[in-house]
Amino acid sequence: MEKIIVVGAGLSGATIARKFADGGADVSVIDKRETVGGNVYDYVDKNGITVQSYGPHIFHTKDKQVFEFLSKYTEWVKYEHKVKAKISGKLVPVPFNLTSLFELYPKEAAERIKKVLIDEVGYGEKVSILKLKGHPSEEVRKFADFVYKNVFYKYTKKQWGLKPEDLGEQVMNRVPVYVSEEDRYFTDEYQYMPKDGFTSLVKNILAHPHITLKLGKDAIQNITFKDGKIYYKNKLFEGTMIYTGCVDELFSYKYGSLPYRSLTFVFKTKRRSSYQDAAVVNYTTNKRYTRISEFSKFTCNPQKNTVIVKEYPKPYYGGEAIPYYPIPLAKNYELYAKYEAEAKKYKNLYLLGRLANYKYMNMDIAVKNAIDLYEKILEED
Ligand code: FAD
Ligand code: UDP
Repeated sequence: MEKIIVVGAGLSGATIARKFADGGADVSVIDKRETVGGNVYDYVDKNGITVQSYGPHIFHTKDKQVFEFLSKYTEWVKYEHKVKAKISGKLVPVPFNLTSLFELYPKEAAERIKKVLIDEVGYGEKVSILKLKGHPSEEVRKFADFVYKNVFYKYTKKQWGLKPEDLGEQVMNRVPVYVSEEDRYFTDEYQYMPKDGFTSLVKNILAHPHITLKLGKDAIQNITFKDGKIYYKNKLFEGTMIYTGCVDELFSYKYGSLPYRSLTFVFKTKRRSSYQDAAVVNYTTNKRYTRISEFSKFTCNPQKNTVIVKEYPKPYYGGEAIPYYPIPLAKNYELYAKYEAEAKKYKNLYLLGRLANYKYMNMDIAVKNAIDLYEKILEED
């Protein structure tokens, strides 16, 4: 098999590198960071707490194949994520559920709304706020307006600089309203944290004699394109290149910059074993930050001190900011399509991952797409 170059040592890059290496190919994995794992990078700090440098990451999936693939490289700790939102001075479950309803409405009104929701939507249903807002029942719509105002509107404006309806179902469906007492953030079958952290998981995926890892190297410096061919370090590259970085950067922003949302993470160590009553508290009606995460609650491992992180959203203009969230608007997808078409001109170049595919994707989908792309490339050979 020919040589493989994988740009990016995040979950996407690591997964496809491992698949190629297991298949007998020699793989170079290059990352401009000094660490592996991309945005899932974590480390144990001086308090003995696993801190995630790029924000709260919780693994969850319905996909058995993905779970079994990752299980080869880590043991797991069972963890079911629960989130609360601070609304009217109370901490209530998010996704908004029947418990949240009873916390925030007078009992009689809550009973009435509960009945309407069960009759009109169905007990146990999960429904997006946008669907609820357009529901034929006036009572359901009134309730939806309350939830929209208290849970979604301000948080979404802070996070994206956009309204929920501008983002549409794809994003708003991530956090539906639950017509039940279900209080888990995710309802997927497999919900775990890697026992020794995500960095250790990714290191184990990359630990293969056929994988050479080069950290602290910006691959783009060495890539040039000419007449439908890729050159690496000025030599014609006829192997397979998998690219998991920003595609506009790869092609020197020739069609313009793809917009992203970025975040500033502000970490604090507190001299107490617990800071808040949930692993994550969302600030849905006030504050400049969107949420506070408390890391020891993810690993169910309290220490003498506790570490929290606040997330302040901001636009991404390159430079110091890190592109975290592709912005799912039609005009951005149109721009992305131009870069995708540009990439297709090079038959040995493949785009993969949250950045290169310009998709809001969870970890399990990143792994799944990497496995699928590997299989597709094998079929092409
Ligand atoms: P990345 O992790 O971004 O990796 C890309 C890598 O490519 C980076 O290491 C980068 O340095 C490298 N790179 C880029 N350009 C170059 C270059 N020119 N040269 C060399 N290297 C380069 N998912 C979940 O399932 N659960 C969660 O709870 C969750 N929480 C999240 C919270 C936040 C705040 C964010 C932003 C994302 C969250 N995600 C979560 C999504 C998860 O982070 C992604 O699905 C996953 O990290 C995608 O992996 P990736 O390899 O595609 O991208
Ligand atoms: N959201 C919201 N209020 C909340 C939680 C989520 O408005 O309390 C919206 C917001 O637009 C957010 C999206 O739902 O960006 C997806 O939330 P999720 O928690 O999945 O975001 P992530 O963890 O990927 O940042």
